[in-house]
Parts: sequence; structure tokens; C-alpha cells
Amino acid sequence: MPKPQYTQKFRDAWLKDPSLKEWLLVIDSTLGREAKCKFCSKIITSRYADLKSHDSDKCYTAQMLYEMYKDDTNYAFICFLKPILGGVQRVNKAFEAKNAESCKLLEDVTMLLNCLIKKVTTPNSRFKLFYDDIETFVVRDNYLGYLFENKIKEMKEAGFSDEANLRERKCIFYYSCKD
Ligand SMILES: [Zn+2]
Repeated sequence: MPKPQYTQKFRDAWLKDPSLKEWLLVIDSTLGREAKCKFCSKIITSRYADLKSHDSDKCYTAQMLYEMYKDDTNYAFICFLKPILGGVQRVNKAFEAKNAESCKLLEDVTMLLNCLIKKVTTPNSRFKLFYDDIETFVVRDNYLGYLFENKIKEMKEAGFSDEANLRERKCIFYYSCKD
């Protein structure tokens, strides 16, 4: 006889569990309170065994982030990306939708790219998306957000001297976006 399937309720004690607390979030949904991974945004069934198996060494996103955070310049890069990631994820989601309208998708991508481009061009730049080459419009000393600038300041105080290269790497990120 098969074991009866029962739904386990989320337990607050799990939030304090040393092997789960680094990534575990609790969210309210129509199904009640659910467990979610902070790093990969996966919703995990509220069963301790499933949560355990999603532990950081199995969650690829968490592992990758951990590797990146270890390095200061990577951390600065993440500081810079963080405010944008929400927008990127929204566009990704829109593309995954089955009944997506192509006009709406183009609009979403255009909006995201324009928002990225604003960050590396001057405020009154006449850059036209899909017409101009971003390379000729890009400025390399733009303010790249509070988190990033703060991190850079901290790194420079600790003796970091490769700021220009680090900023350039952010710009290169944008070049790859235009394709
Ligand atoms: Zn995860």
C-alpha cells in the first residue's frame, strides 16, 4: 500500500537550521507558507528531506555565487549587477511564457537595454538602440550605483589599484548585451 501523501507545513525552526539558514526564505503563497531558495529562487516543498537535498552543495546558483563572492573584484561586479538583475529576470520570464506576444517581448527587451545603456552613456547621449554602435557612446567613469561605488572605495582604501580595468569589465558586459 502506498504511503499517504501529506503536505508538511513550513516550520520556523528550519530558518535557524545551520545547514539551511544561509539560503532558506519563507514566502506566503496561495498554498500557504512555502520554502524558497534565496539564491536560485526555486520553491521547494516544505519537507525537511527536500530542503536538505537542496543544501548549498547541491544548489548550483548558490555555489557559483559563493565562488564569486570570495573574490573582491567579482563582489564589486555583483554589487553593480544587483540592481539590474530584477529587470533581467523579468525579461527572461517573459520569454519563457508560452503565449508571449512578440511586440510585448521586443518592448521589454528594448526597455531593459535602454536602462542598461543609460548607465554607461552620458545623460544627454543621442545613442539610438539598434542603430548606433554603443562603443562610440560609452563613457567609462560613470557612477555605477551606490553598492558598486562603495565597494570600490573600500577596495581602494585597502590598496586596490586596478579600478579602470574593473570599470572596463562592466562596460564590456554591456557590449555583449547589444548582440
Ligand atoms: Zn537554490
